[in-house]
Amino acid sequence: MNETEVVPCHTCGAEVASVRSAILQLLPGQKLVHLIIAPGLVSTQVVDLGDRQWTGPDDPAYIHYRKNIAQRRSFICEKCYGMLDTLDGLAEIERDGKVMLWSMSVSSRGDRAAIYDWKKWLTYQKKAASSMGIEVAE
Ligand SMILES: [Zn+2]
Repeated sequence: MNETEVVPCHTCGAEVASVRSAILQLLPGQKLVHLIIAPGLVSTQVVDLGDRQWTGPDDPAYIHYRKNIAQRRSFICEKCYGMLDTLDGLAEIERDGKVMLWSMSVSSRGDRAAIYDWKKWLTYQKKAASSMGIEVAE
């Protein structure tokens, strides 16, 4: 494998030979809490960190937040995909020392996310870039 022929994982930043194309959503300002309801029975819940203080729907921070939590196609490594491919599709993934909570759409779960190698990924990136009017150098 050529060193340059790697794809960066969107969620953890690892550079890998192939990725999964999954529909992801970032859940900023939230984290997972695992509650033991009975012996051997754990309930996982998403809770607010409570660090958001918006003045209203026009608040730039709120607009930024709304933009950030949009579901979008992301390319992630097998390790991250494995973490997200669960019943609730939730996982906390560390990147550059920061832990972020991600949610994967139902359509991407159950080992259904397509595998992209470097070549296929590059073709997709070029197509996406040209649809935005960006020229990609060879
Ligand atoms: Zn990853």
